[in-house]
Formats: sequence, structure tokens, C-alpha cells
Amino acid sequence: MKKAKNTFFSLAFRMIGFGLLIGIVFPYFMLLLGVPQTVARSTLFVASCAIAGVLVGFVNIVISQVTVKNRLTFLTDKMDEVKNSIITISENGRIGDCDPEHCCIAVETSDEFGRSAQAFNELIASFADSLRMLDDIKTYTAIFSGQLDLHALAEYALERVMQGTGADAGALLFEQNGEICVLRSFGIRDADSLASDPHVLGAFTKSASYRLDHPDEVIVESTLTQFHPKEVIIEPVLFKSVPIAVILLAKAAPFQADYSRQLAIFTQSLAVALHNALEHEQLQKLAALDPLTGILNRRFGMLRLREEYSRSVRKGLPLGVLMIDIDHFKQVNDVYGHVVGDRVLRDITALIRHGMREGDILLRYGGEEFLLILPGASREDVYLVAERVRYLVRDHKTQYGENQIGVTVSAGGDSMPETSVASEQELIECADNALYHAKNAGRDQVSIN
Ligand code: GH3
Ligand code: MG
Ligand code: MG
Repeated sequence: MKKAKNTFFSLAFRMIGFGLLIGIVFPYFMLLLGVPQTVARSTLFVASCAIAGVLVGFVNIVISQVTVKNRLTFLTDKMDEVKNSIITISENGRIGDCDPEHCCIAVETSDEFGRSAQAFNELIASFADSLRMLDDIKTYTAIFSGQLDLHALAEYALERVMQGTGADAGALLFEQNGEICVLRSFGIRDADSLASDPHVLGAFTKSASYRLDHPDEVIVESTLTQFHPKEVIIEPVLFKSVPIAVILLAKAAPFQADYSRQLAIFTQSLAVALHNALEHEQLQKLAALDPLTGILNRRFGMLRLREEYSRSVRKGLPLGVLMIDIDHFKQVNDVYGHVVGDRVLRDITALIRHGMREGDILLRYGGEEFLLILPGASREDVYLVAERVRYLVRDHKTQYGENQIGVTVSAGGDSMPETSVASEQELIECADNALYHAKNAGRDQVSIN
């Protein structure tokens, strides 16, 4: 681009030139006005006019310097100052911290200077807005991406978005295996019913956003203060254009005009973090589960046992364990083959699951050995569960072509603090000893220490 010449230099050149021109032309005007030629065309008069023209040009230059250039310099210096303030602030802090004194130019006139200052301020405001948005994205992403636990993330994220948008109640829902579940909700009494709300479904299936004014069907009832929301916002959280979650926000008063900007920033950051947390959970599950039976593998099962043991010790509650081993399982493999053996293993898993109580934890302890962790169970409770499982197995047949394969199990159990143990490992050893007794006593039976 061709660089413009110095404006004030060219202005000075023109003013002096114009002054000189007027000085030269002036004697001719004098002639027209009847001044005698001897006077008007005298060298002294012509020279005086030319000098006077040049002088007026100079005076004009001084006047323009004083009025225009000084004001322009003031404006430029102020713009420079604002630019430096913004650079410093965006390097060291948040652009929101910039006060008007440092980040704005005072608009004092309604002329071009005033309009320039106004336009500059608007430009800075929109630039600051973009920086703030970038800042928010960075903050959200940094905070969210550090959180891999799905539920902790959901709790924190919902809290933040409610703060950011000023919502009084909210819920974060996500879809897993075709089912919509509430990950977290605040201030909503029957949050589970949101899973079947047509707008929530619309957000999931059509990636649609909703802003409902005075919704008739009141879907929000705060636990503490029932309120009819003035506005309800339902927004999908899209990851690669696929809705992986939906945020619902409700407010007793209308949302502020800029809520959508906040929400957009928030959902962008949350989408990535949610996706990471879901992947992480999936991987954790895959790593924790035994692929044949789908129950916890030994490594993760033992971690769960340690947790349960610590909790029981802390709360002074009993903890039962039951070791279950299939009798003569080797024969099943030998006679029918490994594939059928696997099927029997899966059947037995299902039967044990059927026999255990809610809250009990089943893991595959070894090849054909299972460990059942029974929080809160006394020896008597362990015995009852063991017998229930034993009968379920005994009465079951695995179908293989024409064959019906029946197996039995032996089980050994124990419970603390009835049996005093110093560690979860010791508790397992007690159950293992009991199992050994059951096997020795003829199998298909239960032995409790
Ligand atoms: P006991 O009554 O004394 O427990 O006799 P058992 O035959 O059940 O015990 P043993 O320890 O001699 O044999 C266990 C068998 O379990 C041997 C092994 O091939 C089989 N097994 C272990 N894991 C699997 C598996 O994942 N699939 C199949 N099909 N068989 C398995
Ligand atoms: Mg066995
Ligand atoms: Mg065994």
C-alpha cells in the first residue's frame, strides 16, 4: 500500500501556496475596484500582497496546528495509552479488570474527533469482549479438562453455568446406552422426570435449543422455594455436532440478554470435558471388568474390597465375604470342551447375581472361583446368601444341544467383626479356609467359619 504523505506538510504547502496565489491575484482585484494601475501594479504593492498571502498561509498553519493537530495528537496518544493498557492487562490479568479510565477515550465533542473516539471505544469494547470470551473458554477448559470423574465434573460444571447465567435451578442430563439420565441437578424436585420432557428429548434428538417464556407446564419446582420459572432454557451440549448432554436452566426472573454467549462458551468447553470423562469412564469399566462374565476382575474387585473393608472399619459395620467355587469344573471342560465351560461360567455368574443382594459386589476371583463381598452382612447373612446361590446353581441346567449340563458349587464364608481380622486379606483367607472345608466335606455345600 502506498504510504500517504505527511498530511500537515501537504496542508502547510497548500496553505502557503494558496496565500501566495491570493497575494498575486489581489492587485488585479484592486484594478477592478478602480485603484489606479500605478499603485496596484507597483512592485511594492505586488510584493506586499504576495508577502501578506504567504503570512496568512503561515498563520493558518499555526492555527491548524493549535486546534487540529493538538487534538489529533491527544487522541492518538490516548489510543496508544489504551492499547498499552490492554496489552498489559491481557498479559497479566483479565480484560474485565480494565477500568474505563484506562481502556476508554473520553468523548468530549460531537464532531469527527468525538465520533472517532466513540468508534475507537466501541472497537475496544468488542475486542475486550472477544478477549473475555477467550479467557472464559481458557478458564472453563482448564478447569473442566482436569476433571475426569463424570459426576464430579457434572456437579462442578452445573454450578459454574448456573453462576454464570444467574439461573436458580438447573440440570445436566446425558445419554448412555440409549437412556437419558440426570447427571446432576440443583433445585429441581423431580429431576428424573426431565428425561421424558419433550423439549429435553428434542434437544437430544434434533440438537434443538429452547427458550421457553412462562412455560405453562411447570417442570421446575425448587426443593426449598417453589417457583414458577419465568424462563427455562434447554441447550444441547454438542461434541462433533452430536448431542452428548443437555443443560436445562430455569430462572424466576428473565435471563440476562448475554446469557447465550456465556452458555455457548460453557457448552463448548463442557462438551470436550464430558467426552473425555465419558471415555475415561468407559475405559475404566473395560479395564475393571472381566470380559467373559462382565463382572469385576480380581484386580479391581480387590480394590473395591479394600474400600468396603475401610468403610466397615470406619463405621463399625459388619462385612461379609463369600468364596464360591464350581465343583469338578475341570470335568465339564474335559467332557464338553472349553466353549461349553465358558457358557457354564456365564450361567453361574448370572445365578450368583440373582442370589445376591443389592449393594453386594461380585468379582471373578480366579478361573472358576468367585468372591462375593457383602457389606453389612453377618455370618448368618453370608450363610443365607450362600445357600440361596447353592440352590439356584443346583437347580439350574446349562443347555448344550441335547445335553443339559448341571454343576454344583461349594462356598466358604466369613464376616468381620464376628471374626476378628486385621486386614481384608485376612478375611479372604478365612473364607478360603471355609471353602477348603466345604470341598473336603464332599462339595455342594456351604461352610461358614
Ligand atoms: P474342585 O471341585 O476341586 O474345584 O475341582 P475343579 O475341577 O473345579 O478344580 P480345578 O482347579 O482342578 O480346575 C479348575 C478348572 O477351571 C480348570 C480350568 O481349565 C477351568 N477354567 C478356569 N478358567 C476357565 C475359563 O475361563 N473357561 C473355562 N472353560 N474353563 C476355565
Ligand atoms: Mg472348582
Ligand atoms: Mg478352583
